[in-house]
Amino acid sequence: MKRLLLAATAALAISGVAAQDFPGSKPVTFVVPFAAGGPTDKVARDLAEAMRKPLGGNIIVENVAGAGGTLGGTRVAKANPDGHTLLLWHIGISTSPALYRNLQFKPLEDFEYLGLINEVPMTLLGRPNLPANNYAELIKWINDNKGKVNLAHAGLGAASHLCGLLFQSQLKADMTTVPYKGTGPAMTDLIGGQVDIMCDQTTNTTPQIAAGKVKAYAVTSLQRLNTPELRNLPTLDESGLKGFNVTIWHGLYAPKGTPKPVLDKLNAALKEALKDPEFIKRQAALGTMVVTDARTNPAEHKKFVEAEINKWGQVIKAAGQYAD
Ligand code: ASP
Repeated sequence: MKRLLLAATAALAISGVAAQDFPGSKPVTFVVPFAAGGPTDKVARDLAEAMRKPLGGNIIVENVAGAGGTLGGTRVAKANPDGHTLLLWHIGISTSPALYRNLQFKPLEDFEYLGLINEVPMTLLGRPNLPANNYAELIKWINDNKGKVNLAHAGLGAASHLCGLLFQSQLKADMTTVPYKGTGPAMTDLIGGQVDIMCDQTTNTTPQIAAGKVKAYAVTSLQRLNTPELRNLPTLDESGLKGFNVTIWHGLYAPKGTPKPVLDKLNAALKEALKDPEFIKRQAALGTMVVTDARTNPAEHKKFVEAEINKWGQVIKAAGQYAD
């Protein structure tokens, strides 16, 4: 018994020292559960840049893509809880329990919550040679091409999948869905004309719209957006899909059991990064809203995700969607 107590005391002392030195010379890895070149990847790379200084260490990004983001989620849930492997994921963490029967982690039990990051609306896009130049023409084209329309998305439970599902169900149109490991590669195929339409976060779509590489038909938020590239786009709500509102959020997570002093350091660095005017400006230019300080509190973050799990669980059950 005495030996056991001594071992426990030693372990505590070591973790205390390690926490004080954290992050030390070993880099922190943000695991992004989608392919490089997409919007989640973009947010992660921007945040890594803004968090390096307040954290006092290097941050790298690793893409662990597949199964709508759940592979990356599993990787971090099972990682060493030392603060060096973190998960940067979006709304998918809250849709995955209802969608995946064999999910290898429990979002509310297997992670430490570090705070929300931002909210990002989406845009409805078409391939550049699609013969529809506005939303009304797109709907006509979809109706004229029943059974032939392809819709790209980033896997079951991805934001692009949820947006595409809602779009199809409100239109009462059936499309062939084409899954990718992220909307980065899906965007390449949309630009190349291999798929017809896609919903994607403004973080990824703004530069493509500005360069005229895709056709943009609408935004998925209830209000129009205010950036030069997006301000002329109607909302889906005003275009006839009453109440259509899909806004994506991102959050940062550590594996369960990460020492509290390490979590506190990470949370403080996140809070500081989200106040960085350069970061805020860069996000705003891409239609993204950085969250308020209170929403970066771990307890608030967890409460929010719990509510999202309940909300999306009901929507998904009603739609009869799931994967094994
Ligand atoms: N935008 C993707 C999604 O649909 C994910 C990504 O590639 O970042 O969730």
